[in-house]
Amino acid sequence: LKLGTQSLSQFATRQVQVPTYNRDDVKEGIVHIGVGGFHRAHLAVYVDQLLQKHGESNWGICGVGIRANDAAMRDVLSSQDYLYTVVERSAKGSFAKVVGSINSFLFAPDNREAVIAKMAHPDTHIVSMTITESGYYYNENTHQLQAEHEDIQHDLAHPDAPISTFGFLYAALVRRREQGLKPFTVLSCDNMQKNGSISRSMLESFARLRDPEMAKWIAENGAFPNCMVDRITPSTSQRDIQSLKDQFGIEDGWPVVTEPFMQWVVEDKFSDGRPPFEKVGVQIVHDVHDVEQFEKHKLRLLNASHSAMAYPGQLAGFKYVHEVMEVPIYRQFVWEMMQEEAKPLLPEIPGVDIDAYCTTLMERFSNPTIMDQIPRVALGASGKIPQFIMPSVAEAIWSNAPLRRLCFVTAAWFLYINGVDDKGNKFDIDDPMKEELQALAKEGGNDPSKLLSIKMLFGDNLRNDKRFVEEVAKAMELISKDGVMATIPKYVNQN
Ligand code: NAD
Repeated sequence: LKLGTQSLSQFATRQVQVPTYNRDDVKEGIVHIGVGGFHRAHLAVYVDQLLQKHGESNWGICGVGIRANDAAMRDVLSSQDYLYTVVERSAKGSFAKVVGSINSFLFAPDNREAVIAKMAHPDTHIVSMTITESGYYYNENTHQLQAEHEDIQHDLAHPDAPISTFGFLYAALVRRREQGLKPFTVLSCDNMQKNGSISRSMLESFARLRDPEMAKWIAENGAFPNCMVDRITPSTSQRDIQSLKDQFGIEDGWPVVTEPFMQWVVEDKFSDGRPPFEKVGVQIVHDVHDVEQFEKHKLRLLNASHSAMAYPGQLAGFKYVHEVMEVPIYRQFVWEMMQEEAKPLLPEIPGVDIDAYCTTLMERFSNPTIMDQIPRVALGASGKIPQFIMPSVAEAIWSNAPLRRLCFVTAAWFLYINGVDDKGNKFDIDDPMKEELQALAKEGGNDPSKLLSIKMLFGDNLRNDKRFVEEVAKAMELISKDGVMATIPKYVNQN
């Protein structure tokens, strides 16, 4: 039976939860840019619980896609009344939940004006986003906006027909200011340390290039909470679509499969109100410092481990994350990288047992039922490695702490860029900097210095650190010669 408002009540069983609130009564207080798997498994689920259990009917979501490939999401969601299914999978079994918190969807390439008007509408209080690390036009080295980027240049020249997130946010904020409204809160849910502060800084920079008065208004009145987000959400496969139909009888064109675990720690800084997220298990914190600590733990343990499985894992021919975890020596490598190289650099958080956190991560990575794809975890590396691996490298250099495993991961990424695995099979690279990276990787061979010269990713200091450069070069040489699986034993402790 096809998912939709008409069929909804027929799906409700002990194993399938469906929304019972009246979706027609829900106002859209949140506009979300980047309706991918993660948003639909995370923020949209929290909001669904607020609607279902707490009657918070001012906080429905209007989804927005600003990229051409978002047309597919528009088509699927609109054909099923914007309903979709979240399937939680673990060793305990599968549990399906139909989510009703997304009420509508705007596809920007069809109608840019409609998106700007929606964000500027008085009912909109929050514009949230999961636009991937590349959506921020953030230069890791200078911490500035990539003002010369063609998308940014386009939006500065065509403020009424933007193509970047910042172009849309800016255009809508101009209107809100003219209408005497408060700015909406800009809520980044992307995996970046200081995601809120970066969003603020990029938007203010963009605004300064157009109108310093607007930049000032945003600086004085805007709110950009930092937050840490967590829920491993693989890309949906055809098999997921089929098994939802077979197991639960739900025909859903684009369900989301995820793990039972979910976490969100958000700084309580909203310019125009917020839903009572704490009622549905969100950790609201008052001090930006607290969020930063949680973010740091998550990015340098969970995400860094993902990188440690993605790039060497792709070279070694693994397809899924849990397959990597099934190999004892590789499992040991991931554990030791967390314990010996990431953990010692992390701050203690009162009430958080970091070893228990690491143990839970190993269990989550080992979940065979979610089938998390190595290529998904690997994609967009130029936005990820500088966030997940390099901060630990930089601090390890500074404090003369161990960093061999971090160097091994860096080396594996550098070799991965060539798109050929240890057996000589080719694979695709999905990265906005692919061309530049591949040219430098080719030029450098097993010498990392060419790639390390990309200032925007690595700054100046790393490339000049002898210990780091030598370790990366050594690992590149070993992996090139013997392959990842023969090299990994040299990077774990011998018992
Ligand atoms: P996805 O591929 O399912 O969706 C990505 C969405 O971002 C799409 O709507 C796409 O159009 C949009 N997008 C991509 N580049 C953009 C750009 N430059 N400007 C505007 N929009 C852009 O991916 P996903 O799994 O939903 O992950 C998205 C982000 O969510 C990640 O990059 C990460 O920061 C965060 N996240 C994901 C997970 C996860 O497990 N999937 C976990 C935590 C955080």
